[in-house]
Amino acid sequence: MSTFDVAGLNPPQAKAVQTLSGPLLVLAGAGTGKTRVVTFRIANLIKHGVKPDRILAVTFTNKAAGEMQDRVGELLGYKNQKRKRGQKAPPKPTISTFHAQCVRILREHAPAIGFPATFAIYDRSDQESLARAILRELRLPNTALKPGDMLSIISGWKSASVFPEQAMSIASTDKEHFAASGYRRYQNGLRARGAMDFDDLLLHTETLFAEHTDIRDREAGKYDHVLVDEYQDTNGSQYRITKHLTEVHRNLCVVGDDDQSIYAWRGADVSHILSFSKDWPDAEVVWLEDNYRSTGAILEMANTLIDFNTVRHDKVLKPFRPSGKRPRIVQHKDEQAEAETVVREIKHLIENEHIQPKDIAILFRTNEQPRLFETELRKHDVPYVMLGSQSFFDRREVRDIVAYLKWINQPDDEISLLRVINTPARGLSNKSVRMLVDRAVSKGIPVWQVMNDPESVADLTPAALRGIDQLKQLLGDVQQRLANETMREGLETLLQRTAYADEIARLYDQPDERESRMASIGEVANAVAAYEDKNEEPDLSGFLSDIALAGREMGSEKDKLAMKNAVWLLTMHAAKGLEFPVVYMVGMEDGILPHSRTLKGGMDEDIAEERRLCYVGITRAQDQLTMSLALTRRKWGKPRPTKPSMFLYEITGQADNPNKYRKRKQGASRS
Ligand code: ATP
Ligand code: MG
Repeated sequence: MSTFDVAGLNPPQAKAVQTLSGPLLVLAGAGTGKTRVVTFRIANLIKHGVKPDRILAVTFTNKAAGEMQDRVGELLGYKNQKRKRGQKAPPKPTISTFHAQCVRILREHAPAIGFPATFAIYDRSDQESLARAILRELRLPNTALKPGDMLSIISGWKSASVFPEQAMSIASTDKEHFAASGYRRYQNGLRARGAMDFDDLLLHTETLFAEHTDIRDREAGKYDHVLVDEYQDTNGSQYRITKHLTEVHRNLCVVGDDDQSIYAWRGADVSHILSFSKDWPDAEVVWLEDNYRSTGAILEMANTLIDFNTVRHDKVLKPFRPSGKRPRIVQHKDEQAEAETVVREIKHLIENEHIQPKDIAILFRTNEQPRLFETELRKHDVPYVMLGSQSFFDRREVRDIVAYLKWINQPDDEISLLRVINTPARGLSNKSVRMLVDRAVSKGIPVWQVMNDPESVADLTPAALRGIDQLKQLLGDVQQRLANETMREGLETLLQRTAYADEIARLYDQPDERESRMASIGEVANAVAAYEDKNEEPDLSGFLSDIALAGREMGSEKDKLAMKNAVWLLTMHAAKGLEFPVVYMVGMEDGILPHSRTLKGGMDEDIAEERRLCYVGITRAQDQLTMSLALTRRKWGKPRPTKPSMFLYEITGQADNPNKYRKRKQGASRS
């Protein structure tokens, strides 16, 4: 084949694919084939003699990168080609995320900016320990700034490419001032440990390029073509890195959709895509209008919704496919009924309608939502993969509380005891705990028994002895309430006596983070309450075996992904760019989507971002879309009435009814 086969493309797509050089922008709505254009264009460049390893494509997730690589291989026909032994694999284009690409660059050049080439990449818990150490060094009063807050504030600055020197001058609140003085120490601390955090990967690459133009030119010289998918969600660093890599050859193709910009809270700036033609005045601009993904009915819903955003590029989105099944909006009695019904339907689709598990996705907005779905899916043996959110049962605060409950149920359970022995801190230092464990080992008895033996603990510090007393009292009090009252009350006592809320407040000061952590504790309370309602003779062991079964890992994360043919449980953020024949959007209630934070703030721009998120959710669906809500939802164990999401009113043409949403919707044009 000498010319590239553009049979599977419409005329504007073909034009983009056949534009082989110069700056090129594809600005188009969801499902119009932007990612397809990037993929075909890579293949076409290679067909036209561009060496694969001279092409760099940037995607938003590793999953997307993998899929694009496969697809390019298919288009060029070398994916399934058998190779003779010893024959080298053909060179491939580089397809990766910004972060992965930056790691590659930094592994090669980190020494130029004072890091070892083997630098460590710190995860959240590494970051937290460092932040705690810094705050101790700063000798701030305990309440001034929590480690979690310092990290969020610093991350905000890093996403906006604000370095420690500038942070001081732009800090406005007390907390920001403290964080600014911590920022430099934090960076020095990382440097001293030869480590970078996730944000640093971008920031240090930017610095590397700014300080070492020779390296920048060499890196830029590695590629003749750069393509960027999801360009609407690039932040400042990503924007500048892209510019550095393309300034000379100018072969930059970006694709994106301003209606799907959903990462402003992480420093993404939609103006990068909107001003592309200013940056590159000779840019070719291609608009795509035909949506190939979704049925007409689904698209109509998406179009109706996004039209409520007042500041946007007016893009046309035409259905290529027939109207299809109408999307459903389903109300359930409560959140339990929602999860049960959705999972029952999913099981039915798989067993009776020959739909593959991997073709079904449950999309949610907040971290507390998936617990019930996880539990139901496990109960019904439906394989699933969770992306974009930590499994509920793995969250630190949930593990802590469950460990307490296990210990209360069985005080000799050493693993659980050791997890909670000094959490929250109660004077039992690592050294004291080590002494207790050593004694237990030498006497061959459980640690808790050592702690209850006055002789064995006589030489411990007074603080440690007080800690032990506290634990004994806590255990006695909770056990008593469990014996005489309900489990809910037992849990209440546990939370009070441990002052676990204060622990959360100590660790996380940022309202969002704190709220989300508290909400997961609330979910434990909900689980206890639901268990009690369901069982005639509820007791703690029964509850613990229930959640042990629900929380049992189905294998490592890798096994889960390898399983592949599993139902997707995704945050709406993580679903960007993906598509599924069957989509469930759950918890369509005010306070979930739009998120309570944005409702409280009342800023139009925040609501607009939530609306874009809802639009991203809807436009993931190919054939069937179901939105659901619960009429009551438990909060801290008590059912509370909910309000349907304002977006449901907008979608169903009821936004203009005399209801409270009218106030919020200013100046939107709807007939
Ligand atoms: P998003 O904005 O959600 O990232 P997108 O614009 O990147 O969407 P794609 O994922 O590339 O859209 O395409 C959406 C679906 O439409 C895919 O299944 C793709 O294969 C299909 N598609 C795109 N263009 C065509 C075409 N010309 N003919 C047939 N199918 C097409
Ligand atoms: Mg795409």
